[in-house]
Amino acid sequence: MTQVLIIGASRGIGLELVRQHRESGDQVVATARDEESLQRLRALGATAIKLDVSDVVSIAGLAWQLDGFQFNRVMYVAGLYGPRTIGLQPPSQADFDAVMHTNVLGPMRVLPQLLDALAPDARIGILSSRMGSLTLRANSAGWVYRASKAAVNSVMKDMALALDGRALCVSLHPGWVKTDMGGQEADIDVATSAASLRKVLDGLTAGDNGAFFNYDGQPLPW
Ligand code: NDP
Repeated sequence: MTQVLIIGASRGIGLELVRQHRESGDQVVATARDEESLQRLRALGATAIKLDVSDVVSIAGLAWQLDGFQFNRVMYVAGLYGPRTIGLQPPSQADFDAVMHTNVLGPMRVLPQLLDALAPDARIGILSSRMGSLTLRANSAGWVYRASKAAVNSVMKDMALALDGRALCVSLHPGWVKTDMGGQEADIDVATSAASLRKVLDGLTAGDNGAFFNYDGQPLPW
């Protein structure tokens, strides 16, 4: 049976991934940081684990809680947008720290906890954003977020190299998605995004390790 781990599944794209994988009959472990969300995940038939990716104490117990699992698919979804400000508007230290801790330090601390719980064919997707591309620069407000997604692309690349064939690891842009973060005017719904992201992971080949993909499977420039 396919074993799937979704990091950050209380709502939005993460919750939809849990729904879809459960519908497919996969065994799902999903994380959230509040009791209500954990209950919702359990009601969907997932094993729910409490995890705040910005809290080193919370992360410390993760490897132990995942003991015995062998994940074929891992999706790191948790993310924070932070202040919607453009360049030249200095962020507060608190805003900067919150976004960077969640989007960059989070994966750097969480993903190494998974090493013993990866199946030989494991594929790891990290939800980045096309906003993190230095080539595809659009003038959307959120320069701390943009910097964090550029940084997590680098984190993913180091992970991909360090895993050295033990798992395939990629950055994924989920589309502009109707969620709390994307807003209701966004292009696509969570069902479309989640189904597409699953397809991209399923279709990866060895040469894709360390790459950056749009949700439709097209490669994105750094
Ligand atoms: P939402 O804002 O709807 O959900 C964010 C998720 O991240 C929630 O489950 C939230 O949990 C979780 N999260 C945030 N901080 C933490 C934390 N410290 N510890 C654990 N979980 C945390 O976002 P989306 O579903 O729209 O986005 C998912 C991912 O896709 C993000 O990484 C985002 O940057 C990326 N993305 C989204 C786009 C879009 O258009 N929606 C576009 C490009 C990229 P909680 O409920 O506890 O806050």
